[in-house]
Amino acid sequence: MEDGTKVIRFDPDRALIRIREAKWCKHPRIIVCEKSRSLECDVCGAAIDPFDFMLRWAKGDRCLEARKRQLEDEVKRISGSLEELKREEKNLKARLRRLKS
Ligand SMILES: [Zn+2]
Repeated sequence: MEDGTKVIRFDPDRALIRIREAKWCKHPRIIVCEKSRSLECDVCGAAIDPFDFMLRWAKGDRCLEARKRQLEDEVKRISGSLEELKREEKNLKARLRRLKS
């Protein structure tokens, strides 16, 4: 190498490779380390893949937007029904007053 870095050839037949199965951490608290630019579970210390985290966050964010629109539509629908019920209540009270008198 031009910068003086020594590079050793990798021999895949000689290398001992152990694979540590990835476990999905489901703990709710994450530490964002500015120094190492990494994410870590605050409970078990597992390393969290930043891309996976951002992807999950982005998808969740979109789901929340869709849910927000659904809830806003439902509030409008229920508000309309409530106004109708208030009018009916007012009419019924007026009828009751007329019947009592
Ligand atoms: Zn964890």
